[in-house]
Amino acid sequence: MIKVKSILQKYSIPIAGLSSGTYAYSFVLDNEIFEFYDHPDVKNGTIKIELTLIKRSNVFEIDIKAQGILEVQCDRCLDLFDYPIETTEHIICTIGQQEGYTAENIIVLNKGETSIELGQEFYEIVVTEIPIQKLHPLDENQESTCNPEMMKLLNQYTIREDKTSPMQTLGDII
Ligand SMILES: [Zn+2]
Repeated sequence: MIKVKSILQKYSIPIAGLSSGTYAYSFVLDNEIFEFYDHPDVKNGTIKIELTLIKRSNVFEIDIKAQGILEVQCDRCLDLFDYPIETTEHIICTIGQQEGYTAENIIVLNKGETSIELGQEFYEIVVTEIPIQKLHPLDENQESTCNPEMMKLLNQYTIREDKTSPMQTLGDII
């Protein structure tokens, strides 16, 4: 529990006594937070977060810019590669009970809370950018940058598979 607290505490903004105005913060998401949430697709990563907070009475408007790389595994050749992340998010944070107010991107803080915890928000903003199919990008000649050795093996395997597939045999008989 102490470890959880210390990891996420790095990503919180103290709001006790904060007067109305505009504030800027920056954070870095590193391997520690990706290991902590144990995402199945993310092995490593470094993401810079630039954040602007505007405080107006009991409302905090938060604009988040996230940019960096996540190391993910290619679905085709299984090598790891750096997937670039660049995304923005807008969050509204209010204080007190807002019954029936369940819109997305709204955080409701209890009265008396002294900070806005954003670790989980940051993490979710970033990992939702990972595509369902993760593939090495194409190079300038529109060629795949997958591991060539692995692609050679995969191609051999695919051809052999086709020749002996039951559907193929059925097709030959009919
Ligand atoms: Zn690949």
